[in-house]
Amino acid sequence: MEEKTFQCPYCGVGCGLYIDDRGRIKGDFQHPANLGDLCKKPIYLPKVLDEGRLGKPLYRESKDRPFSEVSWEEAFTILKSKLTELSPKETYFYISGQLLTEDSYVINKFVKGLLGVNNIDANSRLCMASAVSAYKYAFGSDGVPCTYEDIDDADAFIFVGSNAAVSHPVLFKRVLRRRRKTDQMVVITIDPLETETARKSDLHIQIRAGTDTVLLNSVLYVLHREGWLDFRFIDTYTEGFDEALRVAQDFPPETAAQICQIKEEDIYILAKIFAQSRKLISFWCQGLNQSVNAVSKNLALINLHLATGRLNAKGCPFSLTGQPNAMGGREVGYLSNGLPGYRDVRNAEDRRFMEHFWNVDRIEPRPGRTITEAIDAILSGDVRLLWVVCTNPAVSLPELDKVKKALSKVFLVVQDAYWNDTCRFANLILPASQVGEKEGVMTGSDRTLTLCRAFKEPYGDSKPDWLIFAQLAQSMGRGDMFPYEESRDVFDEFKLTTEGRLCDISKLSYEELPARWGKRWLYEELKFPTQSSRARFYPAKFTVASERGRFILITGRLKNNWHTMTRTGKSPELLKREIPPYVIMNPKDALELGIGERDLVKLSSDRGSVERVVVFGNIKRGHVFAPFGYPYELAEPINLLISDRYDPISKEPDLKFAGVDVIKLKGAEEIGKGDL
Ligand code: SF4
Repeated sequence: MEEKTFQCPYCGVGCGLYIDDRGRIKGDFQHPANLGDLCKKPIYLPKVLDEGRLGKPLYRESKDRPFSEVSWEEAFTILKSKLTELSPKETYFYISGQLLTEDSYVINKFVKGLLGVNNIDANSRLCMASAVSAYKYAFGSDGVPCTYEDIDDADAFIFVGSNAAVSHPVLFKRVLRRRRKTDQMVVITIDPLETETARKSDLHIQIRAGTDTVLLNSVLYVLHREGWLDFRFIDTYTEGFDEALRVAQDFPPETAAQICQIKEEDIYILAKIFAQSRKLISFWCQGLNQSVNAVSKNLALINLHLATGRLNAKGCPFSLTGQPNAMGGREVGYLSNGLPGYRDVRNAEDRRFMEHFWNVDRIEPRPGRTITEAIDAILSGDVRLLWVVCTNPAVSLPELDKVKKALSKVFLVVQDAYWNDTCRFANLILPASQVGEKEGVMTGSDRTLTLCRAFKEPYGDSKPDWLIFAQLAQSMGRGDMFPYEESRDVFDEFKLTTEGRLCDISKLSYEELPARWGKRWLYEELKFPTQSSRARFYPAKFTVASERGRFILITGRLKNNWHTMTRTGKSPELLKREIPPYVIMNPKDALELGIGERDLVKLSSDRGSVERVVVFGNIKRGHVFAPFGYPYELAEPINLLISDRYDPISKEPDLKFAGVDVIKLKGAEEIGKGDL
C-alpha cells in the first residue's frame, strides 16, 4: 500500500489517500490530516484520470489555424526562439496551487533566477494572497499558527466566509465529530447564504456581503466595553492595540448591526464566545480573502484573537487553503513577490541569499505584476508571451471579456494535463503529467507535507511540469542550473533554502513524509518573527465597492466538483445534482420579480450577462449566489460579471461582490427538468 499513497489533488485539507489493489481510492488511516476519512470527490479519480487528456505537444503559429502535433524537441525550439526574440520583461508565467512543490520550485527558479524577472504569479492570487498578507502583518510570517489536532479539544468554532461543509468536508466532519463528544460546544457561521455549514451550526449570522470588517470591529468594541479583553496578553505579546481599538470604536453594535443588517445581539454573542469559551478556532476562506477589503477583514478577525489571547492552547485564527498545494507554493515563494523559504524579493538579504544559492547575478528587487495586472499589460502590448501552467484563467479570472481579449492577443503557451477552455486561445499546448503519474510533495492547510507517489504511467507523451522547464533550460544551454534527474533531486535542493527559516524542512526526506514543519503551535513561545517579536494589531478600516444593480452577486464552490471542472466534470456521478448551472435566490426577491423556482433568468452586471436556472434558498434578501466553476460547454462563466478590482495590499480580486440585475427569460415548464 505504501507505494501508492498520495495527497488528494483537490482542496487544501490535504487528505492522505491510497489506491488499493482493485484500483479504488481510500482514505489513509496513517495520515494526520484525515485519519482515514475522505469525501466524494477523489473517489471518482481513477475514472477520470485519462478522460480528455492532452497526450502530445500541439502547435499553431496563428490562432485561426488548427493545431498540429509537434515533438517535444520542436516545442522546445519554438519556446527557445520566442524567449530569445522577446525580452524577459515581455514574458509572463501564471502557475497553480495544484502543482507539486517540485514543479513550482523549478518554474519559479526558471523565471526569477534564469530569466531574471519576477513576472510570475499563481492562482493563489485569487485564493490565499490576502491570508498570506494578513499573517505576515500580524505575526511577521505566513503559516497557520495551529494544526488540525487543535480541533479535537476546542469548544468554539467560527466559520466566516467559509462553507467548509462543502469546500473542506473532511475538516468540517472533524469539527462535527468533536461536537458529538461534548455538549459544551458551539459552532457559528457568518455568511449571507444559509450554506450547508450554516445549517449545521448553532448560530447563523446572515451578514450583508462585504461588511465583515464592520462586524469584527464591532466585536472588538464590545469586548472592550464589557471589560472582556485580555490585557495581560495584549501588554506582553502584542503592539498596535490602541490604533486598532480607535478604528473599532467607529462601530458600536447599533451602527454595525445596521451596516451588516444583522441583530445587535449576535455581535454580543460573538464577543461573549471570544471572551468566555475555553478554546476557539476561527476558520476563514474566500469569503474574507476575495474582497476589495480583504486584508482588513482577515486582520479584523486576527485582532479578536490577539485581544482575547486566543492562540495556542486557547485557540487559533486558521485560514483554510483553497488548493491542495497552495501552502507548498507559498513555501517556494511562487507569487510575484516571493522567494523560496518564505523570502521576499523586496528584502535585500533574502535576495542575496537566493542569488548566491542559485548562482545568478541579480534577482529583481521589485515584485512582478500580479495576474490581473499582467492581463492589462498584455492588452497594452507590454507582455507578449503568456505561459499558463495547470490552471484555467479563461474561466477563473475576473472580468472575463477582458481576459478573453488578452488571451486572444498574446502568444499563449498552455501546459496542462487536460484540454480546458484556456487551450482554445493557445498557440502551443504542452501535455503535463498529473497526480498518480509523477512523484513529488504537497503541503496541506496545517503545514503537513505529503509525498505523492506515482501509481501509473504518464499519459501519452506527457511529462512532469518541473521536467518540462528543466529540459527547456537544458536546450537553452543552462542545464547547469537545473541538474535534476528525478523529483527527489529538486526537493533536496529546495529544502536547503528553508534551513533556519520558520518553514524549515531541511532535515526532511521523502521517506519521512507525511510530516509537518514547525511545532504544533507555530508560535508556542509567543515570540513572533516581527521586528519587536510581538504580534501586531491592525487598524482594520472598512471599504466596500460601489456597484450598480438590484442584487449583490456572491460566488462560491460546488459541492462535488472542483474549480473549473477540468477533471471532476468528467464524472457523471460528481456532476449529478450540480447541473444545470444555477443561481440561488431568496424566494421573496424572486416572487417580487415574477420569477419562480427553476425559471431561466438572465443575470447582468456592467461587465456582461449570463443565464442560469433559479433555485430558491435562504439567502439574504438583495443577494444572489452562483457557483463559479462551470466551463463554457455547460454555461457562460459567472466571472464574466465580476470586476477585476482588488484589495490594495494583497491584490486579490473582489470575486465575491458584483452588482447585478436579474430578469426572467423562460418559465420552468419551458426549459424542462434538470438534476437539481
Ligand atoms: Fe480531498 Fe479535500 Fe475531500 Fe480531503 S476533504 S478528500 S482533501 S477534497
